[in-house]
This record gives sequence, structure tokens and C-alpha cells, in this order.
Amino acid sequence: MSDEAGSSARKESVHYEHWCEHPGCKKWGSFGFAESKAEPRWFCMGHRPEWKLKHA
Ligand SMILES: [Zn+2]
Repeated sequence: MSDEAGSSARKESVHYEHWCEHPGCKKWGSFGFAESKAEPRWFCMGHRPEWKLKHA
């Protein structure tokens, strides 16, 4: 159950400030996207990429 370990680790950093990663954008990153083992990336509503469900 690697999902459980990942979610627990994510909760510890929930108060970490994350802003939209789009170049030049200063908005709050409300949407976090994590690609497999990569660090989660954050984007505002306007710049969020299309969510892809890879683990069906
Ligand atoms: Zn943005």
C-alpha cells in the first residue's frame, strides 16, 4: 500500500506554502499535481494542467 505512505507524508507538508509554478504567475497554487514519485507541483486554477489518471 504505497498510497498510504505517500498520503501520510503529504499531510505533514500541507502547511507548506506553495504557489503556482507557471512562469510569471503569482497566484496561490490551489491544485497540486504529483507525477509518480516526483515532487508535487502546484498550479492555480487558470494554469492547472489536465489531470490524467494514469493508475487505472
Ligand atoms: Zn497560475
